[in-house]
Amino acid sequence: MASNSRSDSFWNRPNGASALDQNSQFQASYWQQAPTHNDDPVRRATQYLGVLRDLAVQPSWISLAHVADPPGEALSWMGQHIHRVNQRFHSILSDLLDCFEAASQPNVQILAAPIAPHAGVDGFCCDVPDLDLQSDSPEGRLRERPSAITLMVDPGRIVPADWPGLVAHELAHGIVRMPGHGAEFRRAIAHLCMAQDLPLPPPQLDAEGLSSWPPCRHNPQPEMFWLGQLSF
Ligand SMILES: [Zn+2]
Repeated sequence: MASNSRSDSFWNRPNGASALDQNSQFQASYWQQAPTHNDDPVRRATQYLGVLRDLAVQPSWISLAHVADPPGEALSWMGQHIHRVNQRFHSILSDLLDCFEAASQPNVQILAAPIAPHAGVDGFCCDVPDLDLQSDSPEGRLRERPSAITLMVDPGRIVPADWPGLVAHELAHGIVRMPGHGAEFRRAIAHLCMAQDLPLPPPQLDAEGLSSWPPCRHNPQPEMFWLGQLSF
């Protein structure tokens, strides 16, 4: 699992949609809403993947190529069901955030993402600036707001019973706001694990051990999830 700092992808966004539409699509709450029956599932899924790539540490980390080729079946499932997956992760994240005082809760959102095998991670933490809707100038469209943190996790890689551990790990990165698994990360993950009844990291566990803490069981066939063949 990895964490990284800001991506520059906001600079490169095409001008197809209005700033307001674009901004709402970058809110995880948008993708927790069920599609209307006018929505074409494949088009919706394609939009979703575009949002994930724009927010991701590396756009190439988001891919369905390893799931299905051609990806039509996976896109269709995603367009129809991604809101249910995102609702579940939002609920897990909310439970984790409950262990902070309201005033000190970090502003974090979460999106389920098909992560390419070459990324080598089950999830990651993206710390990117928000769009500034108040300004028309190209430079003014970006305003660095350090509050916007998006966690992305691949629900296909980890068995559903261990999704809370997966989210806790990435949230710990979001709290620390720096890559790596050092002392600050240890404090953050230990706090979350204690609050959520997840196994606490042993005191002697080194950074490498912390990089996969808490232990999460891997799903042997991640592609099954994105083809809608795995219940959750
Ligand atoms: Zn990590």
